[in-house]
Amino acid sequence: SHRFVHFGEVAEHHARERPDAIAFAFEGRTTSFGDFAARCRRVAVALSAEGCRPGARVAFLGKNSDLFFELLVGAGMAGLVTVPLNWRLAPAEHEQILADAGAELLFVTGDFLAAAARLVPNVAGIRRLIAIEPGDDPDRHFTAWRDAPGDAAGTTVDVGRDDVFLQLYTSGTTGRPKGVMLTHGAILGALELAEASGEAWRRWTPDLTALVAMPVFHVSGSGWALGAFHGGGRSVVLREFSIAGIERAIAGDGVTHAMIVPTALQMLVDSWEQGDVRPGSLRQIVYGASPMPPVLLKRCLKLIGCDFVQYYGMTETCGSFVALPPEDHVRPVGNRLASTGRVMSGNAIRIVDLQGAEVPPSVVGEVCVRTPGVMAGYWNMPEATRETIDADGWLRTGDAGYLDADGYLFLCDRIKDMIISGGENIYPIEVEQAIATHPAVDAVAVIGIPDDRWGETVKAFVVLKPGAAVNAEELVAHARTTIAGYKVPRSVDFVATLPRNASGKILKRELRAAHRTGPDRAPDGA
Ligand code: ATP
Ligand code: MG
Repeated sequence: SHRFVHFGEVAEHHARERPDAIAFAFEGRTTSFGDFAARCRRVAVALSAEGCRPGARVAFLGKNSDLFFELLVGAGMAGLVTVPLNWRLAPAEHEQILADAGAELLFVTGDFLAAAARLVPNVAGIRRLIAIEPGDDPDRHFTAWRDAPGDAAGTTVDVGRDDVFLQLYTSGTTGRPKGVMLTHGAILGALELAEASGEAWRRWTPDLTALVAMPVFHVSGSGWALGAFHGGGRSVVLREFSIAGIERAIAGDGVTHAMIVPTALQMLVDSWEQGDVRPGSLRQIVYGASPMPPVLLKRCLKLIGCDFVQYYGMTETCGSFVALPPEDHVRPVGNRLASTGRVMSGNAIRIVDLQGAEVPPSVVGEVCVRTPGVMAGYWNMPEATRETIDADGWLRTGDAGYLDADGYLFLCDRIKDMIISGGENIYPIEVEQAIATHPAVDAVAVIGIPDDRWGETVKAFVVLKPGAAVNAEELVAHARTTIAGYKVPRSVDFVATLPRNASGKILKRELRAAHRTGPDRAPDGA
């Protein structure tokens, strides 16, 4: 096992060990580890030639591309920080993040070239726009730009484990996205733990092929790919999630490990239920990033014959620190399929009350974690960083949950989403699950709305299955069979869709904001 100082070393190591093995595959083109390292070196030189000094930020706006990883690792070799943007955000949000990050260069894939050209004049720090796909304006094209400086002999930048490598913005589920600074050492540290764990389902080895179907602006995309890369495995990169893309990758590219968030898994099993499913080369599906409905998980287990692993983690921790391993999916004890699993070796978690004191098993509190994958902090937000990580290195997740007697973690909800009605704490997820078991219900979200008498009351937004009919009274009566009367919704709105972000998480702040009777509870101005 190797202890690297930075990701440039990882690239050089694999270039020596397995120069001809494929590191990245994308839409029919492949890059060997040998070529990959050589290109990253040239990217590092080209970035220095652009005047980017260690610590500077370069941004990426686009759908997934293999070239993103050349940019990322090349920038890392030069001591620079890559900031991938969520392409689904609005132009004003892109401007805000680019300005916040202080990005000096903006790399864009073809479909965002026009949008990016409109952004650049509004963001003072950006010096240049560079297109990242063939067929774009050749003067501004990435590969031409990368190869222009010619001799890639030497960048003499000293890069350390404490240098920031990747700045990912949080999903913005509970407020405005925050820039999370992840160092080489944090990402490497998390991967070294997996390697040292001896748990086969956590380890990346050169014979594995990862499917990168989630966006690179999220840990489930870039973090996942870096894991495979670190282990000398191959990454098959999808431009974006699609069922056809996933099927091609499984049938044709020998994918062994896929990270797929629950909403995407739902689309996949909906489509596969019709047909004959052969997992082919697929050995393991990893899911996480948002709650997995137990009904969906059971459907997946029945339909897809491969191992399943659940990960719970966050951007601030380079991804997962709690996992539900394959064996708990095969022989689930009790209600363990509804849990997110146990803390992974090398990490520590504890559940604390509002005063920060640890609570006993079965008592709900805030999940806190200590992990080598912890972020260096939120960019430009020292106060938020101090509120999130204490002096002993414990990070507050903002998630409410409890541990059972065996150490399995059950998540309840975001602390910010908790409803307090008549002095009682109500976790929306419990209400949602009580409603979701009604056969007419396709999706449901529950929020608290301000109420003069109760402080807050419970409100549900329900999407019905196509052709299904049910009224609010019936749904409320159904919920009342499984949850206490005070938790049952006082009002139900039937809606066509629920607002979701890229990981499929429901944006409750949007539901609250749309509900004009009261202010959004997240006081962040988002
Ligand atoms: P923001 O911090 O901007 O509000 P976010 O928290 O959704 O957005 P991410 O860092 O992408 O941004 O997501 C981390 C969160 O996702 C966790 O805090 C947790 O609430 C949720 N999550 C992650 N994995 C799981 C899981 N396996 N089950 C349930 N929830 C999960
Ligand atoms: Mg968060």
